[in-house]
Amino acid sequence: MKVEDITSSEQAIALEDQHGAHNYHPLPAVLKKGKGVFVWDVENKKYYDFLSAYSAVNQGHCHPRIVNAMTKQAETITLTSRAFHNNVLGVFEKYATEYFDFDKLLPMNTGAEAVETAIKICRKWAYEKKGIAETEAQIVVFENNFHGRTTTIISFSNDEGARKNFGPYTPGFIKIAYDDTHSLEEILKENKNIAGVLIEPIQGEAGVYTPADSFIPKVKELCNAHNVLFMADEIQTGIARTGALLAVCGKCDCQGHCERQATYSRPDLLILGKALSGGAYPVSAVLADNEVMNVIQPGQHGSTFGGNPVAAAVAMEALEVVRDEKLAQNARKLGDLFRSELNRYIVDSSVVNLVRGRGLLNAIVINDAEDSSTAWDICVALKENGLLAKPTHGNIIRFAPPLVINEEQILDCVKIITDTLKQFEK
Ligand SMILES: *Cc1c(COP(=O)(O)O)cnc(C)c1O
Repeated sequence: MKVEDITSSEQAIALEDQHGAHNYHPLPAVLKKGKGVFVWDVENKKYYDFLSAYSAVNQGHCHPRIVNAMTKQAETITLTSRAFHNNVLGVFEKYATEYFDFDKLLPMNTGAEAVETAIKICRKWAYEKKGIAETEAQIVVFENNFHGRTTTIISFSNDEGARKNFGPYTPGFIKIAYDDTHSLEEILKENKNIAGVLIEPIQGEAGVYTPADSFIPKVKELCNAHNVLFMADEIQTGIARTGALLAVCGKCDCQGHCERQATYSRPDLLILGKALSGGAYPVSAVLADNEVMNVIQPGQHGSTFGGNPVAAAVAMEALEVVRDEKLAQNARKLGDLFRSELNRYIVDSSVVNLVRGRGLLNAIVINDAEDSSTAWDICVALKENGLLAKPTHGNIIRFAPPLVINEEQILDCVKIITDTLKQFEK
């Protein structure tokens, strides 16, 4: 059987169902093409993509510059492994460290791997620099976190589906309430073995849970005060998604070049993935200054594909596109418009309780029980009306279009969303 033989969605879904592991529950849309903010299914129906592969496709589908960088490099050399050097990696590392203003970068492939990398660096730093007794280091994490799917990462998840029957769990993590600086302050005061705090500046998978503006700066301040590493997982929130280069930039107006403004909570370990490649290729990375990154020496961490020439070329171009096309600015402006339009709608709505988010990472909270199918049913109706979005955590729908979307398109999408919601009003 060939890909060209697939002519209907049912056929493609049946194949996956029969031959693939059932580890996802996708909406019944079978996509075959993407361009900018649009995707097409095998029946040639066109949709606005309002998930952007969980914010990996910030630069839009098949961005010509990124595709060009990828194909050009793919025709030259794709993989050397780190047993040898390649002529692209160093150029990328210089570019990305200047872009984000850190001394060094460690390249990996997936987001979960980058989180694992940050955890390893943090623990090693704790033993070699902070002087915590070996194997005693603890890392503070937050309730409803999402950092990936490895055995260590799911060990500190409180999502039952992600965790159950995957034990024994990795020790060394303390989970506290999110958006609650008092809990953090208490634990940092009473426990001297804390090495780091691992945090999402906005909890994406938890339903775009957006903390108080003062929360992240306070977390940073407490980390500093207690000599604990502030580790920001910006895999979903970073790279212009929330209207700034990073969500930890707060409301600084640097357009993708942070000049350490007062609102910037600079991480000790910055974790990136997803849009680092514009969705073209799996590329992730951890950035840190020498004091922290230099605890890693040859043989202590790595990946066969991490830092390969295709990944390096793609990531460099993807970052340049973000800056050249002023995507952070666009996300901020159109995010404000999107929320104000939806907020106008929900005043009289019986279906939607709340709109929240920052930049173009937003969500609506549906007025129904967490285990109800309303959010799913709305997403199916949105699909019929030409817009793809996915429920997260039961009764929440995330809206995260590619950041290349324009004002006319966002207003068109607001209309699709509000018209769809009207079908569900009681
Ligand atoms: C998606 C995501 C990850 C995991 O990335 P993968 O590439 O799926 O391994 C980790 N943290 C956050 C905040 C994410 O959104």
